[in-house]
Amino acid sequence: MIALYDTLARSLKELSVKDNPINIYCCGPTVYRDAHVGNLRTFLLADLIVRALKIEGRQVRFIQNITDVGHMSEDFQAEDKLLKQAQLEKRDPFEIARNYEAKFHQDLAKLNILPADSYPRASETIDLMLQTILKLIASGHAYVTELGTVYFDARSFPSYGAISGNKLDALKPGHRFEYSDEGDKRFHADWALWKNAGNRTEMVWDSPWGRGFPGWHIECTAMSLELLDERIDLHIGGIDLRFPHHENERAQSNSMVGHEAVKMWVHGEHLLFEGRKMSKSAGNVLLVKDLEERGLDPLALRLSLLENRYRSQMDLTWAGLEAANLTLKRWRTNMASWGDELNQLQDLEVSKAFARDLDTPRALLRLRAVEKDSSLRSEVKRSIFLYADSLLGLELGRAIEIRPLTSDQAELLQIRKQARESKNWKESDRLRDLLANTGITVSDGPDGQSWSWS
Ligand code: AMP
Ligand code: ZN
Repeated sequence: MIALYDTLARSLKELSVKDNPINIYCCGPTVYRDAHVGNLRTFLLADLIVRALKIEGRQVRFIQNITDVGHMSEDFQAEDKLLKQAQLEKRDPFEIARNYEAKFHQDLAKLNILPADSYPRASETIDLMLQTILKLIASGHAYVTELGTVYFDARSFPSYGAISGNKLDALKPGHRFEYSDEGDKRFHADWALWKNAGNRTEMVWDSPWGRGFPGWHIECTAMSLELLDERIDLHIGGIDLRFPHHENERAQSNSMVGHEAVKMWVHGEHLLFEGRKMSKSAGNVLLVKDLEERGLDPLALRLSLLENRYRSQMDLTWAGLEAANLTLKRWRTNMASWGDELNQLQDLEVSKAFARDLDTPRALLRLRAVEKDSSLRSEVKRSIFLYADSLLGLELGRAIEIRPLTSDQAELLQIRKQARESKNWKESDRLRDLLANTGITVSDGPDGQSWSWS
């Protein structure tokens, strides 16, 4: 039984065993730039949930959208993020979109994030969005203006604000609640489902209200309802999407189906890098390729992220990434030295940690305890690690070359360990340099001394 934190209920909720398959929708990337490691933290959240469900034998249907049109920039200029980037790069907007979409898939693969069942593109779902908008107009939840723009009537949905707490009566005019120009909407909190093209000539489509393009929020409503048969068991996204994106989506989807369309809203907290919000202007946006350029395994990023629970804000640092890289190497080395057993052995502590709101730090603590437990046979340790890895996705069983240590190296390592334990820092530094000369990098972390081939 898996329990997750539902942002709407503000409590842990168990996933019903009756729903089969479990229908999952995760808001995907806006493909006008590379996904940064913060985006990837949110995509990893979906992967962990899928893995936790599958290991319990549950069937999963998992959809993630690709936003290649309609995501407006936040500067109130009503500029489409993709068109803006296309102008900057002097390239066709669809070429930009396909390029970054391909890179998004490459990054997912590097982090062992299992692919979704489908990745519908906004630009290829226009008809479905138009049908959805027509239904919302017919049921009185949306209206068309003289300028040929269609707005959702926020006041037609009384429980607006339930996810984020931003109720309509508290949203003042002029509050930054929507990434768009004010246009000719009737009420300040209404948002555009379809925008008239105006001067825009690229990425525009015909509609019953003239040429235009869809808003961002309607995309997720149209796709999730259609592809998941109007039953979304889990809706996943980063915490910033709670408002307005998910609030607007909930209003649209519930107005379409007449009940709560989403059973559980799960949000991942943000990732900071070296203590600061990642932003282009601050110049601290970290990408997977930056890690690779430093010689780090991208799965060291995955391990670093797993050291924190998805619901807490996390500060990623280079030091943390380096430490995770060493831990990965140590675990893979251990795994190779523990034999060649291929069977997994279910470990209750690991599975319980996952089932209780993805407590990945606890699962990793358990692995560290197993690693050190001298009462466990090597094959047992290996089988437990293999089991945990089917959830963690760290390729702990990846074949690595194990060169045996020479007896001198083994002895030096042992003496250095003792020197450190007796706090003889000078001697331990001297021994580390000696070992470095023989091709061994020694490092010290919370788990004690570890080593790898340089
Ligand atoms: P975008 O491509 O900007 O639409 O964002 C894709 C996903 O990444 C969304 O679910 C965002 O909430 C999430 N996201 C954006 N920035 C961060 C961050 N710093 N940490 C974690 N998730 C983020
Ligand atoms: Zn979405």
